[in-house]
Amino acid sequence: MDPTDTAAETDVRRRIPRTDAVMSDPRLLRAAGRLGAARVKSAVRQAQQRAREGAVAPDAVADTAVSLLPRSAGGLRPVINATGVLLHTNLGRAPLSAAARRAVQEAAGPTDVELDLRTGLRARRGRSALAALRAAAGAAEAAHVVNNGAAALVLAATALAAGRDIVVSRGEMVEIGDGFRLPDLLVSTGARLREVGTTNRTTAADYAEAVGPGTAFLLKVHPSNFRITGFTAAPDVGELASLGVPVVVDIGSGLLAPHPLLPEEPDARTQLTAGAALVTASGDKLLGGPQCGLLLGREELVGALSRHPLARALRVDKLTLAALEATLTGPGTPTGEALDAAPEGLTRRAERLAALLDAEGVDVRAVPSEATVGGGGAPGVTLPSAALSLPERYAEALRTGTDPVVGRLESGRCLLDLRAVPPADDERLADAVRSVGRR
Ligand SMILES: *Cc1c(COP(=O)(O)O)cnc(C)c1O
Repeated sequence: MDPTDTAAETDVRRRIPRTDAVMSDPRLLRAAGRLGAARVKSAVRQAQQRAREGAVAPDAVADTAVSLLPRSAGGLRPVINATGVLLHTNLGRAPLSAAARRAVQEAAGPTDVELDLRTGLRARRGRSALAALRAAAGAAEAAHVVNNGAAALVLAATALAAGRDIVVSRGEMVEIGDGFRLPDLLVSTGARLREVGTTNRTTAADYAEAVGPGTAFLLKVHPSNFRITGFTAAPDVGELASLGVPVVVDIGSGLLAPHPLLPEEPDARTQLTAGAALVTASGDKLLGGPQCGLLLGREELVGALSRHPLARALRVDKLTLAALEATLTGPGTPTGEALDAAPEGLTRRAERLAALLDAEGVDVRAVPSEATVGGGGAPGVTLPSAALSLPERYAEALRTGTDPVVGRLESGRCLLDLRAVPPADDERLADAVRSVGRR
């Protein structure tokens, strides 16, 4: 070993500033207020380690620590959804509207979620959100909100069918993703499943035959992530409602009223009008709100659910209630806008961005694309869209950039589909593409 090297190394080590000294840098002090001292200290230690290894100069330790700080105290990073899948499960499904984000911010501190400020007495939790939900669903006598769609079903099965039968078609025994199967979920509550019909065809007579004294309800589940076509049959809710037991409909997507672009997608209002006793749905699919489970329907059923002990374990927090109400009463949601965006407008945006980036030397062109609603609903429906087409290597570079963009790979190109990207984010998207070009 060269003795002079060792001496130089020792000298470098001696010049590495101590943790306390680095922590007194004003930028790091401010960061400690924002992110917590432990996070900042850990960035400082990493920076010191890099200096020991000779990767950065000893007097650059503070700068390095600043560059290593996380952006926020939470670990979740905001991303641009350029996948063309409007409700992407891995990206947190529906993005909240500006109104819902503001409502969450306002509800974050102490708030009157369970207090009537006029009387000073305890009030029903989330009463205004529930009133907004009932009003938005038109025909609903009562409403209740739980953590997610699966919880809504579990609560319905537990409160209404424990130890009794739920009659369900073999064509509607759905796996909702990541290995979660609705039949398993329902059986876990102590309810018994009575499967009727076949995978492709189930008639009202099949249900009628299964109904008996042990029947708690008939369950209809919308196959929201697959489609069975061809020789199929399924009775509508009206027919089932005439069989004398409550009909519970899991519509999945949370559409409260029919949507012209999604004629096959069931909505709460239509199902309730047709005779459903209870409708369950997710809040963060086509409704475009926060993650939650909606229960809408007859007073006596919803009342029984909301008073069941399990309801306490599934209740939502004030942030969810605030976001849900703002979603229901506020201006359009990003999901609604993405769904309704005119294809010509998307093409114009793609062409403008492509021209801009092409002029800066990026290998990019505007191409037609096909977007989908996603696991949240409308299986088989494609929505005409437009995308930026970039070399394949962009996919990873954009995903791992400072403002991450998630696109999709198609025929050896990285496509950035604009349908789920709000127009206000076009410049952000262009900047992300530029930053890859420079790397
Ligand atoms: C998505 C979905 C569920 C589950 O809802 P979560 O909010 O994800 O818990 C249940 N049933 C159907 C039909 C669905 O589409």
